[in-house]
Amino acid sequence: MTDLYADVVGQERAVAQLRAAAVAPVHAYLLTGPPGSGKRAAARSFAASLLCESGGCGQCRDCVLALDEAHPDQAVFERAGASILTPQIDEIIRRSVLRPTEGRRNVLVLVDFHLVNIQAPKLLKTIEEPPPNTVFIVLADFVPTELVTIASRCARIDFGPVPEAAVTGVLVAEGVEPGAAAEAAAAAGGRLDRARLLAADPGFAERRARWRHVPSRLDGTGAAASVVAAELLELIGSAGVDTLAGRHEAERQALEERVAAIGVRGAGRKDLEDRHKREVRRLRMDELRFGLATMQTAYRDGLVAGAVGPAEGVAAVDAIHAAVEALIRNPNESLLLQALLVRLPALATVAATPE
Ligand SMILES: [Zn+2]
Repeated sequence: MTDLYADVVGQERAVAQLRAAAVAPVHAYLLTGPPGSGKRAAARSFAASLLCESGGCGQCRDCVLALDEAHPDQAVFERAGASILTPQIDEIIRRSVLRPTEGRRNVLVLVDFHLVNIQAPKLLKTIEEPPPNTVFIVLADFVPTELVTIASRCARIDFGPVPEAAVTGVLVAEGVEPGAAAEAAAAAGGRLDRARLLAADPGFAERRARWRHVPSRLDGTGAAASVVAAELLELIGSAGVDTLAGRHEAERQALEERVAAIGVRGAGRKDLEDRHKREVRRLRMDELRFGLATMQTAYRDGLVAGAVGPAEGVAAVDAIHAAVEALIRNPNESLLLQALLVRLPALATVAATPE
């Protein structure tokens, strides 16, 4: 037997729960955990175990199709725009009452369910009491208020951030050079998707070097802080933008093709645009968080090497930590960086770090 959950990395507990669940499944499962923690891959594998005659051999036609999200008795509902919309809810309900065309079950996967922002009593009822052969797999990054009731009707399976060593292992297995893999894993904060993006991003090493170099450029003056802050903001703005822009353009084209083919009015252009804006924003936040973490490491290394006084060094690490925490409140990035940089001590020996 092949390992059905080979694509789910560093989530032994969740995988064990899913394997056990497949023996006698209930009507609905909620898989929660941060983005990039492997929920989607786990949902594919779990679906395979529900659709396969042998409970998930990983090799039969049912398994292969389910792992490809292409099994006729498996439907994956992904939001078309910023949120899950009423027409989609109707489609989910309609699909849930269909009899399985081939196998013994209907498996419905609802992706990004933390973004449900409508009252959906009909859906609640369906998830609560679906037709006997239907199993829901609901995926959410977290459980927002709107989802609490639905969540309480599902068996919940929690996913944590992927351990750094596990991320490194996957990247190395995918052909990334071990040093670069470890750096990408360390910078990705437990997210395999972001680690893959960083490992494939030629600008990543340079951005990292520039953030690491920041403490050597500070002199406690507002002038230096504002020059460096402006440069860092530009750096953040350029990170991974090409990759994201290419994907967004492809999605816009796909939408226009759908419109041309089936002539949907309204057509979710606004939703798509909103989602793209959100993704650009998230990329910026990821980069800023990564940059701050890199600076923090520079100060920690400086402390160990004696390049900064213990009190100053510890204060610097704390100040950076506070800035990272403040990011949750969506601050003005420029003001945040300037206020932080002006407080941080210079770190002379970091200048020796290669660019
Ligand atoms: Zn199988």
